[in-house]
Amino acid sequence: MEILKDLMGYGPDVVRELAAGLLGTLSFLLFIALGLLAIIPALIASSKGHSFFSWWCFGLAMFIVALPAAFLIRPTKKQEEVSGRRSGTLKKCPRCVEFVKSEAIVCRFCGHEFAGGTEFEKEL
Ligand SMILES: [Zn+2]
Repeated sequence: MEILKDLMGYGPDVVRELAAGLLGTLSFLLFIALGLLAIIPALIASSKGHSFFSWWCFGLAMFIVALPAAFLIRPTKKQEEVSGRRSGTLKKCPRCVEFVKSEAIVCRFCGHEFAGGTEFEKEL
């Protein structure tokens, strides 16, 4: 109550200024916190080959939506190829230069037959 009485002594202008200053500081802190939080979906999305900056903006605007979306989005085609080659689950077709599963016998893009077919094919 003492503080309130003191504030009253300064008049309504000072109180209004103090309140505005406090609100400004709070909203500034909130903005910083959101900016930091938005890094989370941005990092997840960029690990899947998507743009870090666009996802950071998305996170800043709609963090609640961006976070689950970052978990759910598929990696880009390029990122899938990179991780597929690394883990050995993909191979490159020599004819059309597309990536197909390493167990594939026929390329799904151009129909190229890879060497070392099945036993059945060898008999023919
Ligand atoms: Zn092919």
